[in-house]
Amino acid sequence: MYSINEQMAKLVFKCRDIGFECNYEANGKYVDEIVPKIIEHLRVVHNLEKLDEEMKDRIAKSINKVPIKIKMAVGKKTL
Ligand SMILES: [Zn+2]
Repeated sequence: MYSINEQMAKLVFKCRDIGFECNYEANGKYVDEIVPKIIEHLRVVHNLEKLDEEMKDRIAKSINKVPIKIKMAVGKKTL
């Protein structure tokens, strides 16, 4: 079961935000879910085998919480 807060936000990381000319975006509900995707992307696409502390810090700061807009099916037509 999810709380309302968890349902209404997701985490988004854009590769561009850490300085690459790249359109890659990772998203997920939890940091633990999104970070491995980012690390894998950086390794495969940008040949970064090891991330130094500065890069880890940049990644952490570039993960943004984005609200999910939930479209409510509350009858506009009936109003
Ligand atoms: Zn990238």
